[in-house]
Amino acid sequence: MQQWRQLSLTGKILIAMIIGVAVGIFLNQIGQHNNFVQSIILGGVLEIMGAIFVAGLKMLVVPLVFVSLVGGVTALGDVNKLGRIGGKALGLYLLTTAIAISLALFLAHFINAGQGFDATHAVTNTFQNKPAPSFVEVLIGIVPSNPISAMSEGSMLQIIIFALLFGVSISLAGEKGKHVLNFFNDLNEVIMKMVDIVMSLAPFGVFALITKTFATQGIDVILPLISYFITVVLALFLHSVGTYGVFLKLAKLNPLTFFQNMRPVFLFAFSTASSNATIPVSLKTLEEKMGVDNAIASFTVPLGATINMDGTAIMQGVATVFIANVYGVELGLSAFLTIILTATLASIGTAGVPGVGLVMLTMVLNQVGLPVEGIALIIGVDRLLDMMRTVVNVTGDAMVTCLIAKGENAFDQSVFDARNSH
Ligand code: ASP
Repeated sequence: MQQWRQLSLTGKILIAMIIGVAVGIFLNQIGQHNNFVQSIILGGVLEIMGAIFVAGLKMLVVPLVFVSLVGGVTALGDVNKLGRIGGKALGLYLLTTAIAISLALFLAHFINAGQGFDATHAVTNTFQNKPAPSFVEVLIGIVPSNPISAMSEGSMLQIIIFALLFGVSISLAGEKGKHVLNFFNDLNEVIMKMVDIVMSLAPFGVFALITKTFATQGIDVILPLISYFITVVLALFLHSVGTYGVFLKLAKLNPLTFFQNMRPVFLFAFSTASSNATIPVSLKTLEEKMGVDNAIASFTVPLGATINMDGTAIMQGVATVFIANVYGVELGLSAFLTIILTATLASIGTAGVPGVGLVMLTMVLNQVGLPVEGIALIIGVDRLLDMMRTVVNVTGDAMVTCLIAKGENAFDQSVFDARNSH
């Protein structure tokens, strides 16, 4: 017990995760038809623990993003600077997503994922086809007609727009604005304390989420889809280490230190499978462990959680080639370019929540004329891949945030190098 208390939070979460995997696999083996395991353990205790933990994180996202972004924008104090940072973030987010999907297409094509796949052995589940928003709808929808409903629905881009305008107006309001700013800065501290409290529950929440996933998924669903699964995992790995590594090196930041500092974010993203729910942990880590100024992180992190999904783009690239191969459809160069463009644009309009990648995938498949029903083939392994691609999604956001902060002189190298653990 004493030793457990002395462990860092990251260490505790890691242990919880490992025990969760073991218990989950065990329950999967013994509990398939066991009513007690299914309804009391999985559907009862673990369901409650996991759901409360995720709800706790989500509860903080909207207030935290709004309050910290208002403070951040006001600290920037300059609309031109804001425009420049926004432009850089958008450019880098789109660029990294385009690289991610190109890499995925190349790998999937090279490995020939899906060739010889026997659809009769796959665990197919029905896929509810929800229409993805069109690009025009996304553009129009960026400005909230009602900020309160934007907040109650958690519409991140709308909240960002409202917070930016609010922050800029605080700067313009002079002396009176300063009172409001002080209040927001103090409020930010208070909400950060709430983040600490919810994070301290993470070992239990993570244990519940991971156990439940491994108890319900089982390894047997992966086997028929092994070529798809491995291609996605390989592309995720190469993109994180290769692409992000090169970008970090170019910005003269040590990739190894970056990845070490990111550990708590990895664990939260993996277990919740939601970039949105990970925002509080990302912000805390970027500010306290990476040395990024709040003025930058409070803007680029929520923006990235919404519009930047490199891991998701990778899944879409591999899935498209896989489905095309299974249905025996030849994809030419123009189809590849369409996939790159559609997947990159699709990521802008969809929020970082579990499973949303599949909704975006329908858009891509439609664009290149592949049957949307093909998604049913890969859905069996989607939860596991969702967890992994979410890790890459949030890593991309953090990498771009560090780059921008460095370029804007809003970066404390000594904090970045300290490698202090939570
Ligand atoms: N779960 C992912 C995220 O929140 C999105 C997805 O790929 O489904 O970033």
